[in-house]
Amino acid sequence: MNIAVFSTKKYDRQYLQQANREADHCLTYFEASLNRLTAATASEYPCVSAFVNDKLDRATLELLASGKTRLIAMRCAGYNNIDLEAARELKLLIVRVPAYSPHAVAEHVIALLLTLYRTTHRSYNRVREGNFSLDGLIGSEVSGKTVGIIGTGKIGGIVAELFSGFNCERIAYDVNRNPVIEEMGIPYVSLDEIWRRSQIITLHCPLMSSTKHMVNQASIAQMQDGITLINTSRGGLIDTKAVYQALKSKKIGHLGIDVYEEEEHLFFEDLSSEIIQDDLFMRLTTFPNVLITGHQAFFTNRALTNIADTTISNISEFERTGACMNAVQL
Ligand code: NAD
Repeated sequence: MNIAVFSTKKYDRQYLQQANREADHCLTYFEASLNRLTAATASEYPCVSAFVNDKLDRATLELLASGKTRLIAMRCAGYNNIDLEAARELKLLIVRVPAYSPHAVAEHVIALLLTLYRTTHRSYNRVREGNFSLDGLIGSEVSGKTVGIIGTGKIGGIVAELFSGFNCERIAYDVNRNPVIEEMGIPYVSLDEIWRRSQIITLHCPLMSSTKHMVNQASIAQMQDGITLINTSRGGLIDTKAVYQALKSKKIGHLGIDVYEEEEHLFFEDLSSEIIQDDLFMRLTTFPNVLITGHQAFFTNRALTNIADTTISNISEFERTGACMNAVQL
């Protein structure tokens, strides 16, 4: 099948080429992201593959559907960047990679947390400059803390398991219960209880209208002073302006984020020679107790292999049967 593959970097091509060796689809790579300005490029392709920060709004989907495109193969799990209603109306099938390595993301949560708690991001730079002073490097311990896990699906479930090694209390909130969480003896509590009781909060639910800005001025007001907030899920779960104010007032003690509300203008690109216009983001990078990574929680060898393999097999399944078990329900 002819596939237009958007938002590709060197590493995407390498893993997709490897995965495609047997299937032998015809992959055309575009570095550009997919949006209403670039969609016309793909009009001759029956399949379009897109990634997490591509913008599949109605206008983009209409342009694709008016050409030959029938299948959209997402190389990610989330699909908050797609207008699903428009996709249904236009009879476009959306397939995705439901799980490529929940361990990769879960382990990144621990990486962010321990870096913040033991200030290793600051020590690393100091030692390289011959500065062995410990001033300002007093750490915090996870042991004895209460960890609130919001969203206990594949990633949240593994995060809960990883925290079992830290001698901390774990509490969880989800609209659906995961038996694995209950087997670990972790109680499900209300969202208000999560805000009130936790010293560490980690977000693992999808971005939807019901979860957008769930961390906001009102929920932050309920949290304990010095709260640690970790977000590896989607930037929109957090009202970044409210979080910024709470960092300034020291209500938030540590912030670790792998995702950011306006990340599509920043992440995955080398902007080191540019003047970055996002003042809020740049201000966040100046806080010593804030750690930001550029949507790299998924970025492991295992995850990239699984993403490429599942994407290719999704496309092959569609080509063979006209359907796919990893289709998004529209
Ligand atoms: P999942 O579908 O297995 O789990 C999501 C959980 O959230 C489910 O248990 C669901 O019931 C729960 N949920 C739904 N609505 C909720 C609500 N209103 N409040 C609380 N919980 C709610 O998904 P997953 O594989 O665990 O992924 C979780 C999120 O992680 C994804 O939505 C995606 O945004 C993000 N993600 C980030 C990266 C990264 O590289 N940073 C990589 C993969 C996934």
